[in-house]
Amino acid sequence: MQSKARPRNGPCKFIFVTGGVMSGLGKGVTTSSTAKLLQLAGYKVSCVKIDPYVNYDAGTMNPVAHGEVFVTDDGGECDMDIGNYERFIDMPMTKEHNITTGRVYMDVIKAEREGKYLGQCVQIIPHVTDAIKKTLRKIADDEGLDIMVVECGGTVGDIESLPFLEAFRQMELDQGLSNTLFIHVTLAPVLDVVGEQKTKPTQHSVQELRRIGIQPDLLAVRCKTPLSADARRKISLFGSVEEKCVISCHDAPSIYKVPEVLEAQGVLSAITERLGLRKPALRWGNWQSIADSFSNQSGMVKIAIVGKYVTLPDSYVSVYHALSHAGASIGKKIEIQWIDSEGFENGAAENLAQLKNFDGILAPGGFGKRGSEGIIDAANFARVNDIPYLGICFGFQLAIVAFARHAGGLTDANSSELDPHTKNPVVDFMPEQRNVHDMGGTMRLGSHKISVAAGTKAAKLYASNTIERRHRHRYEFNQRYLDLLTKKGLVLSASSDSGRRIEILEIPNHRFYFAVQYHAEFSSRPGKPEQAFDAFVKAAARR
Ligand code: GLN
Repeated sequence: MQSKARPRNGPCKFIFVTGGVMSGLGKGVTTSSTAKLLQLAGYKVSCVKIDPYVNYDAGTMNPVAHGEVFVTDDGGECDMDIGNYERFIDMPMTKEHNITTGRVYMDVIKAEREGKYLGQCVQIIPHVTDAIKKTLRKIADDEGLDIMVVECGGTVGDIESLPFLEAFRQMELDQGLSNTLFIHVTLAPVLDVVGEQKTKPTQHSVQELRRIGIQPDLLAVRCKTPLSADARRKISLFGSVEEKCVISCHDAPSIYKVPEVLEAQGVLSAITERLGLRKPALRWGNWQSIADSFSNQSGMVKIAIVGKYVTLPDSYVSVYHALSHAGASIGKKIEIQWIDSEGFENGAAENLAQLKNFDGILAPGGFGKRGSEGIIDAANFARVNDIPYLGICFGFQLAIVAFARHAGGLTDANSSELDPHTKNPVVDFMPEQRNVHDMGGTMRLGSHKISVAAGTKAAKLYASNTIERRHRHRYEFNQRYLDLLTKKGLVLSASSDSGRRIEILEIPNHRFYFAVQYHAEFSSRPGKPEQAFDAFVKAAARR
């Protein structure tokens, strides 16, 4: 397809963010913060995440091993970093913004089968690297971007990321020096009580990057306290990067303060000078006060997250952020306790009593039988004890099961996901899912329009009769039970697909009992908490 003509401010500039030393340094936050600064300076900017694993997307990966699957409006099952980008630059990403080795190879092999490379031996260079470059340029052109910040997952030296880094290296050549820039994120650890920041890991990591032909322009050095002048000098000398381009990424009170940490060191000028862009006029707008709201807090709201994947909080990272957005907006810190729902099972129901110590109980998404009875019991405990409850997707479905069993008189009610032979499948397979056999990308995914019924709690908190929210599920409320359960007091206050799917449940005369089939967490932004989270946290704060 022919790309559209290009934009206002000349050709798109590409900023590549690579990682060194070890994973988990916050490359995603550096990427998002850099993009935020450029956006505040008036540029049309977006981010792309490259994941060098062979999976086509994150959809089939275990959240406990890889973190949350973030869902985009267009139904992409993406790496959780895409969520960071959206929270920082508040622009919806598409699935195109998450590129994996699997996706690139799939494209190349498909093209080979179609005869697009007829007569040629298809190789990593140039065919795979060409496919990577083409994908990046297409996003830049289609979206008319001034600047694209491309983050490469993993750590320099990983075999998997080599084709991507090679493509970046070539892009410097193709696009021209003033249209590409490399940021390398490293670590300056402190080992002893003397507190000396060690620079050797950064030196080695830069050497590794140079070995594959990339000389970084900026070094973003993670450290606990601001980088010392001495460490900065050494890193500059050995890394061949000007001192002003060695950036201290020390701990900040919240991730949303990182753009200010970067800007205080002149990052924006360094980038724009290097890319030959006009001198920026940075307009912070309300960003700084939003960022401050995450540290200027008094008082605590204690939330229990009762779920299946609690050993790795990253598996619910957007839920965590959505809660923190809601907390910050009312000046309260959210204290989360991650509770494994299996701990309430096998005769350990007395453990449910600990839930009384919390201001609110949240049951997030999940799949499969393990731990589900514990969530059902927690959902019932919240209802009976008038504790604010927010259920999301699985947490919505299991709240229905809990209500059907304990208030609806259907003691054997279940979701057919958990018991395929249940006599009372109050939650059941969506009909269109019955003939689906492939596991990747086949759930009901992405944004769908939802109609909210007037006069309900949902209508009040959303202040609208239609909303759009993102989904990721195969099961749904079984409307054969609608009459029975609504007679018993359950209010089903929103639906989608012309009434075929129920999207929200609520229980009146309860402090706050609200559950949603969609993933409300993906729509929350700093300064703009998603309404269900907002109302839940406010109700919890009042308890
Ligand atoms: N397992 C449930 C379903 O597939 C819920 C999914 C989820 O929580 N994302 O419908």
